[in-house]
Amino acid sequence: MKKEIHPDYKTCTVSCACGNTFETKSNVESLRIDICSACHPFFTGEQKIVDAAGRVEKFKAKYNLNK
Ligand SMILES: [Zn+2]
Repeated sequence: MKKEIHPDYKTCTVSCACGNTFETKSNVESLRIDICSACHPFFTGEQKIVDAAGRVEKFKAKYNLNK
């Protein structure tokens, strides 16, 4: 059997732009993200402006959410 063919998974602290942090497993020690499950409208069920003007519109365009 081959040894050490898997990445070195360890606890990863994820920091979201909304201030939420949570831990997961990854091969890096920390991540910074803009949207997490605590602040994404899809999960919260509410529309929430999470960033300066422009970013939100780009996000909507990216996921075709303009109505
Ligand atoms: Zn968040």
